[in-house]
This record gives sequence, C-alpha cells and structure tokens, in this order.
Amino acid sequence: MINIRGLNKWFGKHQVLHDIEFHVDKNEVVVIIGSSGSGKSTLLRCINFFEIAQEGMIQIDGKTITSKTKNLHLIRQEVGMVFQHFNLFPHKTVLENVMEGLTQVKKVPLKMAKEEGLSLLDKVNMQDKADTYPAMISGGQKQRVAIARALAMNPKIMLFDEPTSALDPELVGEVLKVMKNLADDGMTMVVVTHEMGFAKEVADRIVYMDEGKIVEEGTPEEIFERPLNERTKEFISQIL
Ligand code: ATP
Ligand code: MG
Repeated sequence: MINIRGLNKWFGKHQVLHDIEFHVDKNEVVVIIGSSGSGKSTLLRCINFFEIAQEGMIQIDGKTITSKTKNLHLIRQEVGMVFQHFNLFPHKTVLENVMEGLTQVKKVPLKMAKEEGLSLLDKVNMQDKADTYPAMISGGQKQRVAIARALAMNPKIMLFDEPTSALDPELVGEVLKVMKNLADDGMTMVVVTHEMGFAKEVADRIVYMDEGKIVEEGTPEEIFERPLNERTKEFISQIL
C-alpha cells in the first residue's frame, strides 16, 4: 500500500531523512517510535505530500509519486491524517466539520453527506454531539471528530501523528479505542505514538527511527523484548 525507496529530505542544509526504505502492506498497522527530532513527523508528512522529499520514490497503492506529479490533492485524499492538534473548524458544528470534505471536496449532496457524516460520528461514538460546537467538547472528543472527518474522505491509508499527546491522560483511552477499532476493521495505518501499550497490542510492526534513519524494525515482541541495535536498546530501556 505504501512503498518508499531511497527517500532523502533536507531542510536547508540539514538532512532530516536519510535513505528511508519503508513499506506498509494493505491492512497493516505500523507504529513509528523514536526520540524527538528523529524525523517521524517529517516522514508522515512526506507520505501524504505535505512535504516533498528531494530524493527518492514514494508509491501509494501502486501509483508512483514524485516531486513532479500533478494532482497531488487527489492522492492526498487517499491518505487521511490526524495530528496532535485537532484543527476543527470552530464555527462549524461537529457534524458540519465531518461533512465539510464530503460536500466541498467530494461534492456529495447535502442530505447524503449528512447521513454519511452521522454514520461516521457513530463509528467514533460521537453521534450524540453532532450539533455541538468544538469549543463545547473535550479534547478526546475533538480528536475522535478529527478521525471521523479524515475517514469521510474514504482514505486507503490513515496516518496518525501523536494523536493523543496533547490530551489529558484520562482522555487518551477513548481515542486509542477508536484507533484500535479502525485497525480491527482492516484500515492500513501508520501511527507515531508514545503509547507503548497501544503499540504492543495493535501494531503489526514497530519501526524505530533515530537521526532521520530507520534503525530497526520488527514485531512489537522483537523490538520491545529483544532489540538488536544498541540505539534501539537504549531507547526502549528509557521508555519502558
Ligand atoms: P517529535 O517527536 O518532537 O515530534 P519528530 O521525530 O517528529 O520529533 P520531525 O518533526 O520530523 O521530528 O523533525 C525532524 C528534524 O527536522 C528536526 O531536526 C526538526 O528540527 C527539523 N524540521 C522539521 N520541520 C522543519 C521545517 N519545517 N523547517 C526546518 N526544519 C524542520
Ligand atoms: Mg513529530
């Protein structure tokens, strides 16, 4: 579903991604871990083309995308993304936030968009707040709406960049539960998270990044119980 080869990315003179080789199969859940500044967000942003790497190849669902590819917005629709901060439209209700992409981008008729929006809100257990404004709901609820909004575009892949890091601890679980349900439904997912419980339980594969490189990858058991690389060992010993 995602196939990345030889990806190199610089910000000015600073190389932030080094020779990244990264594959994600359909239905697979990959969790990316690594210390701050190791390039996790940059890699995710390259996968949905918010950032364009100077070198390398990215294939999404068999389509090869380069820095010269036109209609990047169409490919972006296939890759949903949820960030640390929810960025809901404050002047729109919860339901209107979810419907926005359906009516504006997909040109779905209003009545159908509303039905679909409500069914997506049901999926994230937020249907009862459909007519509420974002200011009136909790961070965890906002993040669940953000997930529903991303799902509205019917993406083939969902990317999550620390979706629970900004939440109060008691709200983390409800968001992780929605993500786990998505994974159980077979969504292809790449998740950057510090939630190691989630990583152990839900990830098919863990990727450890350091200084812009993929240092080691393997099953949760391999990475958490018997990492091979010294840097992975050190990182794991710090976080567990
Ligand atoms: P964190 O865990 O703190 O979110 P990260 O692993 O997501 O870190 P990135 O945000 O990908 O790391 O950053 C990788 C490197 O790229 C860092 O050195 C960062 O300072 C740099 N960087 C990221 N975005 C930009 C930008 N827009 N311009 C210049 N440098 C950037
Ligand atoms: Mg980051």
